[in-house]
Amino acid sequence: MASLPGARAPRFHIETLGCPKNAVDSDKVVASLLADGLEPAAAVDEADVVVVNTCAFVEAARQESIDTILALADARKEGARLVVTGCMAERYGDELAVALPEVDAVVGFAHEASIGSTVPVPVAFKRKPSGVRDLLDMPRPAPAVPWAYVKVAEGCDRACAFCAIPSFRGKQRSRRPASIEAEARELVAGGVRELVLVAQDLAWYGRDAGEPGALAPLLRSLDRLRVDGLARVRLLYLYPSEVREPLVSTMLELPSVVPYFDLSLQHASSPLLRSMRRWGSGDRFRALIAAIRDREPDATFRSSFIVGFPGETERDHDELLQFLADVELDWAGFFPFSPEDGTPAAELPDAVDERTTQERLRECSELQDPITAAARDALVGREVEVLVDGIDETRGDATGRTPREAPEIDGQVTVQGCFARPGTLVQARVVEARGPDIVAVPLRVEQTIGRAS
Ligand code: SF4
Repeated sequence: MASLPGARAPRFHIETLGCPKNAVDSDKVVASLLADGLEPAAAVDEADVVVVNTCAFVEAARQESIDTILALADARKEGARLVVTGCMAERYGDELAVALPEVDAVVGFAHEASIGSTVPVPVAFKRKPSGVRDLLDMPRPAPAVPWAYVKVAEGCDRACAFCAIPSFRGKQRSRRPASIEAEARELVAGGVRELVLVAQDLAWYGRDAGEPGALAPLLRSLDRLRVDGLARVRLLYLYPSEVREPLVSTMLELPSVVPYFDLSLQHASSPLLRSMRRWGSGDRFRALIAAIRDREPDATFRSSFIVGFPGETERDHDELLQFLADVELDWAGFFPFSPEDGTPAAELPDAVDERTTQERLRECSELQDPITAAARDALVGREVEVLVDGIDETRGDATGRTPREAPEIDGQVTVQGCFARPGTLVQARVVEARGPDIVAVPLRVEQTIGRAS
């Protein structure tokens, strides 16, 4: 590459808020900035362009996004450009630009791959000519950890009453299998051992392209990457009506696919689910979970629930509590209802007051926490396979996850006295449970296939 005397390539800093899907977008924005000739800054005050990838999911997420934008506006160096992208940029673009004069550019999804053009890059530093790029299919840098989210689709075809996502992410747009496979192959070649597939509605993958049920064949083709070192494929965000054949059999049969069922249930009361404009009932969910456990007793279940949805009665709430007690999910998250502008749920009568919502949230957690703890206690004495994510050098322990723990969401495993490198699989015996986390001792350490750092 030609260089300019005394010149240096502009530098960027990116801050990511929100869910795993946003993390993938940020990876790809980084790839596009690198392709545009920018370089990563060591710190925010050294960057020429500061990017905030925002989340607009609920009010608390929006507030955090705004706080982050304002903090980075203060922290940036003189003359650095501040660019806001992600869900808030898409949903409140014009309002944001007016309300936050410190922001230099608000960039929606259609233009995220061109963020580099918001800062002038000397021609000599340009790595690739800018053009129209689709963020979904952009390459990404190799991650520093041995797992990676892979986004297989963008947008959502459903119309859940509480959710604004389809209004600003649009209808589902599935990536072609070849593009996903190429990204997966590159990640595995870079040392990734676990692929975590994400989409707004993962099991709906392929429908928009006229290929319902396309997730099962995609999993089969990803499973072939085991010969290159892939150890695990994990699926997040499964709408419960789509968790059926052939997907369930494929998940349970393929060696690389972990039997981890992240079911998006939201509630257990039928009337409330209808009011949410969602499929299912407590009994259907019970039957689904029981059928999978019959086939795979080691299957892990996670779900999330909305508490205080308009019209939620004491009876609905009791139904949810009974459901949680019956099905004993390994992991569950409870979220207060948040009325989102423009959604049908925001117009519904019979709002549940804040105090009642908080009380119900507390009851859900108080019921679920011991269930999660008991599931962790039941692992003591068992042999588990841990994918090492990191090393605690001061203590001389490795940290990682078994198939039961999704990265960044669930508990962690500490393997005591183990210096296996990140990316290594370790067979270990569980000796203690500490709330959501477990402690194990190493039995056998795999010959490292993964990355060496
Ligand atoms: S399936 Fe998920 S992303 Fe789609 S509308 Fe429902 S809650 Fe929103």
